[in-house]
Amino acid sequence: MSQGQAVNSAKPLVLYIAGSGRSGSTLLERLLGQLDGVQTLGEVHHMWLRALGKNEQCGCSQSFTDCEFWTKVGQEAFGGWDNVSISEVEHLKSQVDRQRHQPLTALPWTSKNRTEKLLDYTDYYARVYHAVQKTTGARIIVDSGKHPSLALALTHRRDIDLRVVHLVRDSRGVSHSWGKAVRRPEATTSADSMMQQYSPLVSSVLWLSTNVAAESLRLRGARGYRMRYEDLVSNPQEALRELFGSLGLPDELQLPIEQDGTIELRPNHSAAGNPMRFTVGSTTLRPDTAWHTQMSTKERRLVSLLTASLRYYYGYTGRSWSK
Ligand SMILES: [Zn+2]
Repeated sequence: MSQGQAVNSAKPLVLYIAGSGRSGSTLLERLLGQLDGVQTLGEVHHMWLRALGKNEQCGCSQSFTDCEFWTKVGQEAFGGWDNVSISEVEHLKSQVDRQRHQPLTALPWTSKNRTEKLLDYTDYYARVYHAVQKTTGARIIVDSGKHPSLALALTHRRDIDLRVVHLVRDSRGVSHSWGKAVRRPEATTSADSMMQQYSPLVSSVLWLSTNVAAESLRLRGARGYRMRYEDLVSNPQEALRELFGSLGLPDELQLPIEQDGTIELRPNHSAAGNPMRFTVGSTTLRPDTAWHTQMSTKERRLVSLLTASLRYYYGYTGRSWSK
């Protein structure tokens, strides 16, 4: 599929959630999904293999092929999902959307050959975003993909209006979360039945590398905002107000949340992501501070030491890197 075939309607406004895994991206996505005019999609980069390839459940609990929302999007974007070659998407991904590609993709200039590959790869995403805009009329489309490598690749496109929220969480909370065994209720094979787990050492390295890569989005002129998970969960309304204000997003922002943090989560069409995407109904938000009491002193010290510089740099305050 070539870049020249991309859609021609007005640019969709895509809010990409970047950051380390286990930083609360699903929570942020679910909160954004309660706002009128916002359409959340889950982690679109996982959609190709998991939802499309294995027909895993959508956030609405239907299988991907039975979900009316994704059926319409697939029809609009590709003339039907049968016309999408998953192996081609994965082949292009292997060429431009890996962690090792990030330094090259972040540069202000790139070779013609590489630009063509980046555009061919991201054309799949652009088609999905445009189709969602057309079929839903959404003013903001949220992709909670997290990987900075995809956000960097998307900055090479001119047919989407990309904004990035870089979500940061204390590395010790992230590491503790990566160590937990979490079942994937949407799995269609036993091999996929559990979420990935990492040791404190590996999770610390990933936390550092992912956050540094997210910072490199500035080199590409991406319009972005950094948010702390801890600030989001303690005052969601205020955190979203600051996010919308900093990124110049449409601001009819009325999050239907009670004083005590209770919110009625409505169903969504997240194609892939954390099992929290299946939570619906009345939910009370509380900070996940389990690591304060459940993490061993040894692990906590190791993660603290390895990630000290960047944790200090973040200072736990949200800040805009461009206006
Ligand atoms: Zn659905």
